[in-house]
Formats: sequence, C-alpha cells, structure tokens
Amino acid sequence: MKKLMHWTVIAAAAMAATGAQADDAYPSKPITIIVPFTAGGPTDRVARDLAESLRKPLGAKTTIVIDNAAGAGSSIGIAKAARAQPDGYTLLINHIGMATVPNMYRKLSFDVLKDFEYLGIINDVPMTLVGKPALAANNYKELAEWISANKSKVNMANAGIGSASHLCGLLFQSTIKTEMTTVPYKGAAPAIADLMGNQVDLLCDQTTNTTSQIEGKKVKAYAVTTKQRLSTPSLKSLPTLDEAGLKGFEVTIWHGMYAPKGTPPAVLKKINDALKVALKDPEFIKKSEQLSAVVANDKRVDPAGHKAFVEAEINKWGPIIKAAGAYAD
Ligand code: ASP
Repeated sequence: MKKLMHWTVIAAAAMAATGAQADDAYPSKPITIIVPFTAGGPTDRVARDLAESLRKPLGAKTTIVIDNAAGAGSSIGIAKAARAQPDGYTLLINHIGMATVPNMYRKLSFDVLKDFEYLGIINDVPMTLVGKPALAANNYKELAEWISANKSKVNMANAGIGSASHLCGLLFQSTIKTEMTTVPYKGAAPAIADLMGNQVDLLCDQTTNTTSQIEGKKVKAYAVTTKQRLSTPSLKSLPTLDEAGLKGFEVTIWHGMYAPKGTPPAVLKKINDALKVALKDPEFIKKSEQLSAVVANDKRVDPAGHKAFVEAEINKWGPIIKAAGAYAD
C-alpha cells in the first residue's frame, strides 16, 4: 500500500511537470476560436481581424482557426465552448449575447458566469437601423410613418433570439409601441443578404456589418443607436434614434474573449497578454476605426474587469428584456 502511494505521488508530480511544460510551450498547436454566428457577419469580422493581430504576440507560426458554430442567438456556440477541453486551444469570441442569452432563454446547458474564464473585452460597436433598398422612405421620419401604416406587416430581421440585432429590434419595437414580424437568421450575414435582396424590410445591426453596405448604397440607412452621432465620414449624417424622437434610446454592442472554465492560469495569462498586445496593434485599431468600432482600452481588458462588466450588463438588460417579454425555450 505504502509503495502504491509512493508511485502515485511520483506519477502526480510527473504529470504536473508535464502540464507546466505544456503551459510554457503554449501555443504548440492550432487554436480554434468559436464564433457563435455565421461567417461574414460582424462577430466573425471582429474575430478574424483580431486573430491576425493575435498571431503576432503568440508567434507568427501560430494557426488560428475560426469555427462558426452559429444558431440560437449565440447559445449554440457558447454551449460548444463551455464543453470544450480547457487547455487554451478552444476559445470563444462573443458579443453582448453573453448578457442577453442568459436573460432570454428559459433553459440553457451553461452558466456564462460559472463556466468560463474571462480574457478581456475587445471593443464597443454602435448599431445602425437599416432598410431594404426598395423602401421608399428616405429618412427616419418617413420610415416611422411607413412603419405606423404597416405595423405587423413590417418584417424585421435578426440574428436569432438573444442576438444583438434581436435586442436592438426588441427595444426599437417596444419604444415605438409597434409589434412587427421578426425574422430570425443564424447570423447577421444572411440577414443583411436578404435585406439587400428586398426579402425583409428592416435590420438593426453593428456598423461592422452595415458600413460597407451603406457606403455601396445596397441598403438604406436611417439612424444610429448611440447617444452621439458617429464621426465615420459615411455615417455622420445619420441621426441618433434619440435625436429622431426615441428619447433615451441607446444600444452599444461589445465583444469579449473567453476560455472554458479550468483552463490553466499560465495559459490564460499568455492569452490575456497577447490580447492586450493585439488591442494596441495599429492595424487592428485602423480596421476597427474604419467601421466605427472602438477598441477597448480600459479595465475591462483585464479578466476581473471583463467579468464584472458582463455581470453588470446581465443585470442592466434583464429588466428591459423582461419588460419586452422576449423569452425562448
Ligand atoms: N451582429 C449579429 C447580431 O445581430 C451577429 C453576427 O452575425 O455577428 O447579433
């Protein structure tokens, strides 16, 4: 028995040493970042741009693979990340869905606060209210008149229950006291494709997805969801919804990075350090600025600040979502 215990202790010590070596060598194989929305949409865009800048501090040879595990407003991808091996080789980038999904779904297989390690907030992104090219309305006032004449006949697309576009659409409909027909997609990329093709009427989505479509006149732009107008040249003529008469209306989306609970602290530190370097990369900052996204540069880039922020966002949106009565099973 004594001998057995002795061997067990040696084996455990050897395993710990191998683990520490593995942590030192991190990353020594490809890293997968789960994006819980479709390719070509705003969350995917942020993840792919960031991955480029993460490769510099993690080592130029590091391969980062994006896994678009889309559906159910990001809850499918969150669940996949929560179940992944906690070794630093599977990470998650998600947006405000980390705060809306827990408030909207009655049953979830994960707990966003308990099942993840927090690595840092990436950016804050405004949203825009855009319409199909065939809409006759040329400004927000004309759009409001058209909506009140058509009410539930108006189709508003979103990227699934719990998505940012769902949250924005929900808030918009409850503020103007008009219930429209909502059309859920697995991400904003197919939603905006259908909008451009005149299959749906309206969408509220991040500037990271809508700016180039607005510039190319492929959609009609009516307003922004921030308190202040945006300074991006192609968007600065757009009124804020607050200024257009929806007093107090404000939605800003943020993205953050996560690892499954139990990822070794040394690996988490490496990823957080790399994230901090990536967020200061002039290339990442430039790409973000062109799309009106503001790269995070505050205490939310630290794990504790990130987690406290997400917790505050869950508490902030909970009563608003409850009042709008948006739930899913
Ligand atoms: N922007 C989308 C949303 O509405 C998600 C995406 O496709 O990135 O939440």
